[in-house]
Amino acid sequence: MRARRVVILGATGSIGRSARQVARNLPDHMEIVGMSAHTNVAELTEAGAEFPNARIVQSNGPDGAEKLIELATMPGADLVLVAIVGTAGLAPALAAIEAGKDLAVASKEILVLAGEIVMAAARRKGVRVLPIDSEHNAIFQCLEGRPPEHVRKLILTCSGGPFRTLPADELEHATPEMALKHPTWSMGRKITIDSATLFNKALEMIEARWLFDVGMDRIDVIIHPQSIVHSIVEFMDRSQLAQLSRSDMCFPIQYAVTYPDRVAGALAPLDLAALGRLEFEAPREDVFPALKLARQAGTAGGAMPAVLNAANEVAVEAFLAGGIPFPKIWELVERAMEAHAPDGSTDLAGLLAADRQAREFTLAQLP
Ligand code: NDP
Ligand code: MG
Repeated sequence: MRARRVVILGATGSIGRSARQVARNLPDHMEIVGMSAHTNVAELTEAGAEFPNARIVQSNGPDGAEKLIELATMPGADLVLVAIVGTAGLAPALAAIEAGKDLAVASKEILVLAGEIVMAAARRKGVRVLPIDSEHNAIFQCLEGRPPEHVRKLILTCSGGPFRTLPADELEHATPEMALKHPTWSMGRKITIDSATLFNKALEMIEARWLFDVGMDRIDVIIHPQSIVHSIVEFMDRSQLAQLSRSDMCFPIQYAVTYPDRVAGALAPLDLAALGRLEFEAPREDVFPALKLARQAGTAGGAMPAVLNAANEVAVEAFLAGGIPFPKIWELVERAMEAHAPDGSTDLAGLLAADRQAREFTLAQLP
């Protein structure tokens, strides 16, 4: 099989770097034909020198949005890997689908905002949506194309983040510096804060709902501090299948790029004996309200997940800028959800309007 020709949107981020590492590891399987960066020109130039056949786009100029769409639809690309933080990757992702490209999605925010629309478009065009998020990639591997009727539950594993065992009353003193120290994964700043609040898992519950077409009541979360079991599927017969690997995003990226093949690569083996033990515990739902809010938003449907996501993005930025205490992130999201008056519209324009309103509402709540 010839190498898959891949466009990486967000090539300078944490996922973008891992994707370039996979291309380096597997030159016979992955050829990078396009890359975008937003602000990091130095790293984009360096990446362009390493992959000289790739078309390069910087997206923070005035016509950045169009350039991203051009890149995502370029003739000669097979697979578009969306690794842009937040929702800026939605338009290019939808354009890529319309152009008949397969998608590999790391940007969970676009599936939370518009998962139903993305999945429907992909079905209509007969293209694949391959999950890169490690939990969803694990579920995708365990499911092997089985229909939702075979599934009793999807069980998302969650490291618990840096505050897994912190007493609830100490959370108000948590600083950005403390929250940015993730115990098992090295990732971008936004998702690292999301991991500390558990909004990352909240977004992933809704992401799973659309990727695998199961209701919110069939999506569970279990804390697993070692981040080795990446998620679990419980089938109707009560059998559970899990996927395990070291915590390195090159694993899910490689799987998405080589799918449905499995190829020998350069990734390190998992030594369970050396690891000794894997632990699991229930999440502290009373201390981390993000999971409850995700269930509410996912069950309400419509634009409520978009509101949750938008308010969270604004709140995370405010927290990182030192503007609000850590528990305020949950409070701001909850308030935005309470303030959202559903108007029944579930088309893209309606979702984007709700997203915009939730951002404005949350900004107005900031001190
Ligand atoms: P980073 O912050 O490390 O990287 C973000 C990338 O997006 C950079 O290339 C950045 O460009 C680019 N970018 C930022 N803003 C914009 C914008 N408005 N328009 C276009 N491009 C933009 O993020 P991560 O790599 O950590 O995460 C990317 C996505 O993947 C997120 O949605 C995250 O939730 C998801 N994810 C990440 C995981 C991880 O391990 N990191 C695991 C699972 C999912 P530049 O740097 O040049 O400004
Ligand atoms: Mg994840």
